[in-house]
Amino acid sequence: MHLRYCYRIYPTVGQREALARTFGCARVVYNDALEVRKEARKNGLAYPKGTDLQKLVITAAKRTAERAWLASVGVDPLIQSLRDLDTAYRNFFDSVSGKRAGRPVGLPRFKSKRDARQSLRFTRNGFRIRSNGKLNLAKIGDVRVKWSRALPTDPSSVTIVLDPSGRYHASFVVDVEPDHLPEVDAEVGIDLGLATYAVLSTGEVIDNPRFLRKAEKKLKAAQRELSRKAKGSKNRAKARRKVAKAHAKVADTRMDWLHKQTTRLIGENQALYLEDLNVRGLARGRLAKSVHDAGWSTFRRLLEEKAARYGRTIHVVNRAFPSSQLCSDCGHRDGPKPLAVREWACPECGVLHDRDLNAARNILAAGQADRLNAPGGLVRPGVAIPRQARPVERGTRLGDLRPTGVRVAGAGGIPRP
Ligand SMILES: [Zn+2]
Repeated sequence: MHLRYCYRIYPTVGQREALARTFGCARVVYNDALEVRKEARKNGLAYPKGTDLQKLVITAAKRTAERAWLASVGVDPLIQSLRDLDTAYRNFFDSVSGKRAGRPVGLPRFKSKRDARQSLRFTRNGFRIRSNGKLNLAKIGDVRVKWSRALPTDPSSVTIVLDPSGRYHASFVVDVEPDHLPEVDAEVGIDLGLATYAVLSTGEVIDNPRFLRKAEKKLKAAQRELSRKAKGSKNRAKARRKVAKAHAKVADTRMDWLHKQTTRLIGENQALYLEDLNVRGLARGRLAKSVHDAGWSTFRRLLEEKAARYGRTIHVVNRAFPSSQLCSDCGHRDGPKPLAVREWACPECGVLHDRDLNAARNILAAGQADRLNAPGGLVRPGVAIPRQARPVERGTRLGDLRPTGVRVAGAGGIPRP
């Protein structure tokens, strides 16, 4: 399976200039290729193939006066940039044909110099790790890396990312064997909430992290300061950098906390059951901020990735399942309840329920039943994997590229992927 290992890197001034040039060239090549495809589409011509595009927008373009500067940077990141475009088109076509599930994917768009995040990918031909620990990038040089942990094997590619706060990271893709943990008997239902982060069927309550609020207060203060600075002034640029840094701090803090929670949950349980909340739907409503804060989709993604790596099972219970209406003791189905109702007594058996704990228990029971009844399914819980986790390497989502690897493993005591 593919995993990403991310490290902070410290390019020199000269290397930063070379990287900036390469970011620019990769963007131009991407945009030129997109233009060619758009034109072909408009004129009813065949979809230009990747290899033909490469000849046109890289090899031939280098010989023209307008694009001669493409020769001043390494060719590998330019080719990777075209591959990214191919992937973007493939995602679009698969989305249209229904082959790809989830939110509809639009046509690829032009990249801008002003995009907050810049990135470049090098394959095996384009980078090397020197014996002195420096990362050699073709036509960039030997870049200093902060190796916060060892790479498990030779990486197959590296993506260099510049984030809005001005930090550079190298995100390596490595192919590793799954590292299955010894089996445990425990299984758990997880109810994701708003008042608390989550309630487990064991009765454990995971609270929303308070420190995140603190980091956010700092962010808000920085944003206010920015709004008071005159447009185009030096102080404004300084304030903008400060806002970006505060943003990065919030994101890192959140990610770090999510890693700790998910690592522990995966370590403790053989199977984990979740409700398929329509996170995207909810996020559009007025709950937007708290849903976004809670980072539920990231929570689920991390659980899935870690489950695949450590031999655990994640099962998502169908969204239509009325987890807050069923009595987890006797199975009586009560009516729907407004969110404000935190406790209720079952009219059938009289048991007093905490809303979230009851839901978590229902999720556990429903998940276990699903898996037992699955066609061609399993014999006992904890054996089959009904929902295979997504591969970790999929494009370059921002979430993968945060320097989460910089910190030590969470409370579960297993190494974090
Ligand atoms: Zn009951």
